Amino acid sequence: DKLYNLSNWGADLFSINRKGNVCVHPSPNSKYSIDLRVLIDDLIKRKIKPPILLRFMDILEGRISAINRAFKGAISDNEYPAQYRTFYPIKVNQQRQVVEAITEFGKRYNIGLEVGSKPELLIAISFATGKDIPIICNGYKDKAFIETVLYATRLGYDITIVVEKLFELEKIIALAREIGISPKLGVRVKLSSKGTGKWATSGGDGAKFGLRISEIMTAIELLREEHMLECLNLLHFHIGSQITKIDKIKSALIEGTRVYAEMCKLGVNLEYVDIGGGLGVDYDGSKSSYFSSVNYSVEEYANDVVYQIKNICDEVGVSCPNIISESGRAIVAHYSVLVTNVLDTSAQSLTPDFEEVLDSTETLAPTVKKLVDIYKSIDRHSLREDYHDTLQLIQEAVSLFNLGYLNLHDRAVAEWLCFKIFQKINSIVERLKLVPEELQNFQLSLRQTCFANFSLFQSIPDSWAIDQLFPIMPIQRLQQKPEINASIADITCDSDGEITSFVGENGRTKFLPLHRVKKNEDYFIGFFLIGAYQEILGDMHNLFGDTNAVHVTFNRKTGYKIDTVISGDAVWESLKYVQYKGPEILKHVRDTLEKSVASRKISIEQSSHFIELLDRTLVSYTYMGE
Ligand code: PLP
Repeated sequence: DKLYNLSNWGADLFSINRKGNVCVHPSPNSKYSIDLRVLIDDLIKRKIKPPILLRFMDILEGRISAINRAFKGAISDNEYPAQYRTFYPIKVNQQRQVVEAITEFGKRYNIGLEVGSKPELLIAISFATGKDIPIICNGYKDKAFIETVLYATRLGYDITIVVEKLFELEKIIALAREIGISPKLGVRVKLSSKGTGKWATSGGDGAKFGLRISEIMTAIELLREEHMLECLNLLHFHIGSQITKIDKIKSALIEGTRVYAEMCKLGVNLEYVDIGGGLGVDYDGSKSSYFSSVNYSVEEYANDVVYQIKNICDEVGVSCPNIISESGRAIVAHYSVLVTNVLDTSAQSLTPDFEEVLDSTETLAPTVKKLVDIYKSIDRHSLREDYHDTLQLIQEAVSLFNLGYLNLHDRAVAEWLCFKIFQKINSIVERLKLVPEELQNFQLSLRQTCFANFSLFQSIPDSWAIDQLFPIMPIQRLQQKPEINASIADITCDSDGEITSFVGENGRTKFLPLHRVKKNEDYFIGFFLIGAYQEILGDMHNLFGDTNAVHVTFNRKTGYKIDTVISGDAVWESLKYVQYKGPEILKHVRDTLEKSVASRKISIEQSSHFIELLDRTLVSYTYMGE
């Protein structure tokens, strides 16, 4: 638990059971749980292969409840005279079953949907049957987008178009007149306040979206002239996702509410303030303002939102608006976990053992002999000196090899000895109270590359794109001390496909502690908190496609219930994505094979075996099999 900081990022949804396996709970601290290792073993028995994306739908319910409970509490504590409503931004995870679950669980909280494109608008329209699920449209909108909204409004849907650019407003006014409908309108204001971290540019004067204050004045005048000012009832701002510092949120709220109050004073009949997304997730459990963490809780966030808005409205003497937040990350991040197998704990299993050289050093080169001496004599007192000498000797060995004075065997022995010496130093360092500074990061030099059966670009693209930290840990043997410090490499042929930053005991670490995998042992690692943005941002680098996905719900009697299995892409599907056709490839190979059979390069049996193999490969999973 401590090694991976699980209790701090797990939000009480993940724990370790007595068997040493990671468990998932439907809601914080619930007595119901699913043992991840047991679940994976059961799925493999059902012939579902790793990597497997596990989606725990009940967790979505828990997160929606937590946010709404926090706002309910804040509204009651602050005697806030209006209401709160969550709008789920579909872009964070558009999966049909996710939106379905969110709208279903969300009924109790009158949840709405936020969309930012035509496809997302159609998704939202397909879930709502009228005013039951209100919709907010952000993003750039063309004529077809606006027309669709206007016709849907005529049908009785509750849709608000948020104006992001002035030219949009002109289009909306013209189309509304043509169709003869009063649209519900909002404006997005470009605040001077900025968020923090990677998404800070979503706010501030240079932000891509929103109207400047002067443009808002123009919009008001335009609507007044067109006798449509009563259509404008929502003010929106969004200063970025994953805002790590609560004071940035407060500044945005103060500025945004001032804009609201001034607009009210100008006679705009605003009913809603939509504070956008930004409610962050504590990915590393450090509760800091580092960008993979946040320095506030959901309760503190809700309290600040309600308090700041009320404070300014009371001071200015305008009525308090209904509050909307578009929290996406905070709703979906926790609900999915990718589990996959570690392919080997490399160096350990296959590296030849040169133990015999310790007894007979006569044939070894003098440089290598010196390494043997260090290995035999090293102790607490000679630690630093031996460390320096080892580094120097290994360099010397490489130079001698390059000059042709060291043979391959001796170079391999030098490499092996260096590793053994470092292991010895490490075991001494672990017992020391006062560790010399240069040895403090010593474990790093023992870091091994472990290959895991996944594509970082498909399953956790933000790890590559923006260095985002996701909690990663083994899901079994957690009652045993791990023996290996590893980096995790994926199976793409891209050296960027390696993770070298992990969530550890003291925040961020440069290695993941893993257990030595025994021969024929199945050993799995889990990638946690990957439900927000990753599924849709993932790409098909090296044509590794979608992973198998399994929707799991908690069941009192049986522990868990498998609701849906969505097969990952097969090889032919990945190929189709880039315009190749499986049958054409087969035909091409068959023609070549016929020629080879005719010229007796290959037997008929081998030729048909090859065709069978290709046939099987085309329908197989894109990830590693046996
Ligand atoms: N609303 C808008 C306008 C956004 O651009 C975003 C994402 O950046 C969100 C909501 C969702 O933000 P988050 O996932 O941080 O809650």
